[in-house]
Amino acid sequence: MYGRIISGILVGFKMDNNQLMNKYGIIGYPLKHSISPQIHNSAFNALKINALYQKIEINPTEFEETIKQLKHEDWRGFNITIPFKETIIKYLDDIDPMSANIGAINTIKISNGKWRGYNTDYLGFVKPIEKYLDSINSVLVLGAGGAARAVIYGILEKLKIEKIYLANRTKSRAELLVQSVKYSGRTKIEIIDFSTINHLNDPINLIVNTTSLGMGNEIDKTPLEISEKYSNCIVYDLIYNPKKSKLLTRAEEQACQIINGLPMLIYQADESFKIWTGINFPDKVIEKFLLSS
Ligand code: NAP
Repeated sequence: MYGRIISGILVGFKMDNNQLMNKYGIIGYPLKHSISPQIHNSAFNALKINALYQKIEINPTEFEETIKQLKHEDWRGFNITIPFKETIIKYLDDIDPMSANIGAINTIKISNGKWRGYNTDYLGFVKPIEKYLDSINSVLVLGAGGAARAVIYGILEKLKIEKIYLANRTKSRAELLVQSVKYSGRTKIEIIDFSTINHLNDPINLIVNTTSLGMGNEIDKTPLEISEKYSNCIVYDLIYNPKKSKLLTRAEEQACQIINGLPMLIYQADESFKIWTGINFPDKVIEKFLLSS
C-alpha cells in the first residue's frame, strides 16, 4: 500500500493491484467542490483506459515541498487550478509556446520525468461563445488572476475587437497581466478601477467574471450590479458552483444571455485529456456533464 495525506485528503493507490494504472491528478486549494475527477474518470472508464484521476489538495504554505515530492513519483499528468496556475510555472521543465504567452498553466504532461506545461483554459473559455463571436464588439473582464489571463488571451485570439476593459481589485495585478500577456494584434486593454465598474457607461456586450466573487464564502456577492443598461449583454461567469451565481441571477432578471463556467470546465478538460492521451472525450461524456449545467 502506498499513500499520502495532503492537507487532510488521503491520496492513495493500491499499487500491488494496480501496477499499470496511470496516475493523473488535480492540484489546487481548496478542492472540495472540484468535479474534475468525475469528468476525467468517466472518460477513462468509457474508453477502458487503465488510469485514475485524483484530487491533490495542497495548502499554499506547503506548495514547494509537495511539488518537489510529486516530482519523485510516478504521475502522468496534472491539472492545476486556483491559486497555483501562475506559481507552478517555475517548477516546469518546458512550456508550450502558446501557453507561455498566456503566463498561466492549467495542464502538465509528464513524460520521461519531464514536466511540460500547457494552457487549455483559453480554448475551453471560447468554445461556449463561438456562435456569438461575430456579434461581440466590446468586452468587460472582471478579475486578473490565472483564469483571467486565459480569458483575455482567448478574446485577443478569437475576437477582433478594439478594446477590452479590465478591472481587478488589485490594480497592479491587472497591470502586470497587460504587460505580460503576449499578443501582436491591435486590440487595446484598458484598465479601469474595480471600485468604479458600476459607473462604466461605454457600451459593452460581453461581461466575463473571472473573480471568485460569487462562490464559496462569497456566494452572496456579485462583482458587478447588472442594471438595465446591460440587457443586451452576454454575461459569462466562470463560476460553476453554484450553477447560477448571484451575478448570473441578476443578469437573467435583466433578460441577458447567461453562461456559467461548466461548459468551459468540460471543454478545457477535454483538451487536457487530449494532451495526455492523444484522444478527445467520447461525445457521451461531454453530453452527460453538459446536461448537468
Ligand atoms: P486566482 O488566480 O486566485 O484569481 C482570483 C481572482 O479573483 C483575482 O482577480 C482576485 O483579485 C479576485 N478576487 C478574489 N476575491 C475577491 C474579492 N473579495 N473581491 C474582488 N475580487 C476578488 O484564481 P483563478 O485561477 O483566476 O480562478 C478565478 C475563478 O475562476 C475561480 O472562481 C475559479 O473557480 C474560476 N475558474 C473556472 C474555470 C472553468 O473552467 N469554469 C477555469 C478556471 C477558473 P485580486 O487579484 O485582487 O486578489
